[in-house]
Amino acid sequence: MAISLEETIRKHTLKNAHDYKLAIPGKIIGKVIGEWPDSKNDMKGTMKLLNEEAKRVNALSVAQMAEELKEFIFKEKKEEKKEIELPGAVQGRVVTRFPPEPSGYPHIGHAKAAWLDFEAARRYGGKMLLRFDDTNPEKEKQEYVDALKEGLLWLGIDWSEESYTSDRMEEFYTSADELFVKFSAYVCTCSGEEVKKGREAKKSCDCSARDAEENMALFRKMREGKIEEGEAIVRFRGLMSDENSVMRDPTLFRIIKAPHYRQGEKYKAWPSYDFVAPIMDSLEGVTHAMRTKEYELRNPLYFAILKSLDLRAPRLIEFSRLAIKGAPISKRLIAPLISQGKVQGWDDPRLPTLLALKRRGILPEAVREFVLSFGLSKVESEPGWDSLLSCNRKILDERSMRRFFVKNPVKIEVHGAPQKEAVLKNHPGKQEMGERRIATSGSFFVGASDLESIPIGETFRLKDLYNLTLVEREDGNMKFNFEGQEGLAAKKIQWVPVESAVSCKVMVPKDLLDEDGNFVQDSMVIEIGVCEQSCLELTDGACVQFERFGYARLDKKEENGLVFIFSC
Ligand code: ATP
Ligand code: MG
Repeated sequence: MAISLEETIRKHTLKNAHDYKLAIPGKIIGKVIGEWPDSKNDMKGTMKLLNEEAKRVNALSVAQMAEELKEFIFKEKKEEKKEIELPGAVQGRVVTRFPPEPSGYPHIGHAKAAWLDFEAARRYGGKMLLRFDDTNPEKEKQEYVDALKEGLLWLGIDWSEESYTSDRMEEFYTSADELFVKFSAYVCTCSGEEVKKGREAKKSCDCSARDAEENMALFRKMREGKIEEGEAIVRFRGLMSDENSVMRDPTLFRIIKAPHYRQGEKYKAWPSYDFVAPIMDSLEGVTHAMRTKEYELRNPLYFAILKSLDLRAPRLIEFSRLAIKGAPISKRLIAPLISQGKVQGWDDPRLPTLLALKRRGILPEAVREFVLSFGLSKVESEPGWDSLLSCNRKILDERSMRRFFVKNPVKIEVHGAPQKEAVLKNHPGKQEMGERRIATSGSFFVGASDLESIPIGETFRLKDLYNLTLVEREDGNMKFNFEGQEGLAAKKIQWVPVESAVSCKVMVPKDLLDEDGNFVQDSMVIEIGVCEQSCLELTDGACVQFERFGYARLDKKEENGLVFIFSC
């Protein structure tokens, strides 16, 4: 996807400054014209943009420059598109599945898995199934099923069939009986502690000697709820001396008496993930089962279960689990943050859930581009949010109207100012996005930090309006003189007329977790300010670019002003 002229200028200016320690516009212009031939038609305008950018970049510290440049290096790397290759794939016959447990709202890690499953199937003209792996009644809810489906639809992912693992409980019970008969499983009535000790000592317990009939009878009692939770489990006969602890007679069923959101009170013996995943994949005709790398040690168990039931084995493919610095990408980590009231809910903008991303104006296209950039690689990495945000910025740049937002506003009066209507373009490069008109009479809100940087006697410009000079600054009292409509002024600042200013708050989400994974108290920064009156016309959910601040999405309109969430 092409980036805008401004972004192209930014990229080459940063590269030039990085290579030569100082950005020199004369050396950069050729590269810019190379990518944007039309910019030649307005050489004056292009040079002006370039000179301004060079000035900005030359004032950055080396670290800031490197940070900005990272964004572009990432983009270039990403453009070498990673194809998804599946071993042994037959065109038209590939079946993949996305198997979430409905135990929470979907997050960006789910987006990675789902996009890989979906794109792999699409590449080979096959299909992707959606399967709810719902065999833990204590954690699962219909609300989460609905949220997962909505999340997928928001991403733009469609599935061909939808199934629920808990709908096949009777078949799992039959399979268990088959394993008892084959002496491949047994009911273990040891305590949890004893089971753990046995595994550590690599020693079998007496239960493993039970015969098929006794096992079947005990299992029936487990199913009928005649045995209490924790008093019996079904174990697969693996190998207690195996180096891989997963194979030391793992659990296939445990007793859970809590009602199930879909099956009600019908079942009391619930199969484990290890048991249902291979069976479901096999029964549902999955050809390529993809899962994250941390399951790798469980692969031998996956195949051993299928073998002992004489079921066809799909291929297993691993990819790395998505991690982002400072973000809890796991339902297990997110749920407690919500129940402890540390974040507001599943859509708190600091979270990596899809709802939160949507709320802060991260577009599904950007999520897709970001997660697919890792492909099926198994390399573990922990990028920051930057790369996702830069994908997003590139897309928002094209679509977002520009608006003025003044942070920490200070009221000023311009002496001798005319009544003037400013005509501002909604987008610098897109005529078709129109313009807005703002009436002014000489009283403005401008940003406190902008004012601080202006020395007495300096002429500066209210962007797209007129020039003024700061003539006096005494005890916090400042005087400004009108200087005329035209003429160059080095510094341009955003403004909002006092008469029509709208109160506005921008919530800026920061990293939620520190390096040790602890919750960061002040991870939500609230910027207070004013914005243009035209922002009142935005519909909830609209994204704008607050110039020199960033992209923000309108979250809600409150009685005393607008609330935005900073996007990127
Ligand atoms: P969680 O900790 O969020 O519960 P999970 O792996 O138990 O993670 P599931 O709902 O069971 O979550 O996962 C559905 C699919 O999404 C699985 O194939 C899982 O591997 C994948 N997945 C979950 N989290 C990530 C992640 N961070 N990166 C990549 N894939 C993920
Ligand atoms: Mg899970």
